[in-house]
Amino acid sequence: MKLVCKHNGLELSVETLLLDKLYLAGMRHYPKEFGGLLIGRYSHDKKTCYVTDTILPKKYSSSRSTFERGKEGLKKKLVEFYNNDPPLIYIGEWHTHPDSKPEPSETDKQAMQEISEHENVTIQNPILLIIGVNKQRYEPKFYLSLNNKLYEYE
Ligand SMILES: [Zn+2]
Repeated sequence: MKLVCKHNGLELSVETLLLDKLYLAGMRHYPKEFGGLLIGRYSHDKKTCYVTDTILPKKYSSSRSTFERGKEGLKKKLVEFYNNDPPLIYIGEWHTHPDSKPEPSETDKQAMQEISEHENVTIQNPILLIIGVNKQRYEPKFYLSLNNKLYEYE
């Protein structure tokens, strides 16, 4: 599906197949939250972000309403994706909200801000995907982290 951030017109493209895969990975940890990194690439004009893959963390801590991933082993996998043709890079984070709406919590907002400011990432405006999940269905929502705020892709 193709989404647009109305705030600035930036587009995001993602295959349903990937979302299905993230949903399944998330449900293996239901009713706790789970998540990982989003991998992809940008168009030459930087206007469209293609979300194509994920890296799942080896270490993490989670509960029904929190998720914090570790960093172990992620660098090696990021290098492997970067050596792909075309190179695939880190574009953001995703996690599930079990039995809940895909709206960012205060913790989510803070976490994205910290990632923009402190993590050694290749992009300044990481994307956050929250997937509201239950046993029947899932609802994904993408957000762009920009100047300390999260803007929804619709
Ligand atoms: Zn959250």
